[in-house]
Amino acid sequence: MPILRSHQLKKDFQVGETVTKVLKGVDLTIEEGEFVVILGPSGSGKSTMLNIIGGIETITSGELYYRDEPIHEMKTKDLIEYRRKHIGFVFQFYNLLPNLSALENVQVAAELSDHPLDAGEMLERVGLADRKEHYPSGMSGGQQQRVAIARALCKNPELLLCDEPTGALDIKTGEEVLTLLTEYNKEHGTTIIMVTHNVLIAQIADRVIHFRDGVIGEVEHNEHPLHPGEVKW
Ligand code: ADP
Ligand code: MG
Repeated sequence: MPILRSHQLKKDFQVGETVTKVLKGVDLTIEEGEFVVILGPSGSGKSTMLNIIGGIETITSGELYYRDEPIHEMKTKDLIEYRRKHIGFVFQFYNLLPNLSALENVQVAAELSDHPLDAGEMLERVGLADRKEHYPSGMSGGQQQRVAIARALCKNPELLLCDEPTGALDIKTGEEVLTLLTEYNKEHGTTIIMVTHNVLIAQIADRVIHFRDGVIGEVEHNEHPLHPGEVKW
């Protein structure tokens, strides 16, 4: 059974009198353990799709299943529970709590989980063994994103959602973050869906789903995904 499956998923946003159709019938299937990149231009609905998968946004019509759980039928309370149990989220701008240390940022997330991994070990895993007591303002963008990844992973999620996770980073730091994510996917089998507008990043994915104007276009399978270190950035 796929870990995630949508059928004719639609999302409209209403602002005042104006209704904007953002997702126009998305049929998506994600298999367990895949590293999938959703690639598309700005405004094509990628973040909206990811937020729906993560239970942050509601669905206008259509179906979305997490394994055999119908996400489209869930109300807010169930969506929060679904998200807490299964989903890790990494954003472009880290979203760390500024008044907490790196370790505390990760611990806060771990406390919400039924089966958390050790927060300190998670920070060591992302290469921040010597930064545990540092505050976000005292860390580089790359370090902050590593904390955010440790925070997402310490709840041991089955599905990790990443929205332009390297969008605010320089090339070298971005490559390191992508290496961390691909290695974690290979070692732990955690399913990863990453959305990006950067065509180069698509080369590291098992599968590339092209998004344009609220629907899926082409789908590419990469027989031999590149290691982030092999990409000509
Ligand atoms: P992408 O991530 O591919 O750049 P988004 O999913 O962020 O695309 O946005 C797709 C479209 O949906 C844009 O036109 C955006 O303005 C609109 N949109 C996104 N979120 C909202 C919202 N909360 N209210 C109204 N319109 C929104
Ligand atoms: Mg976006």
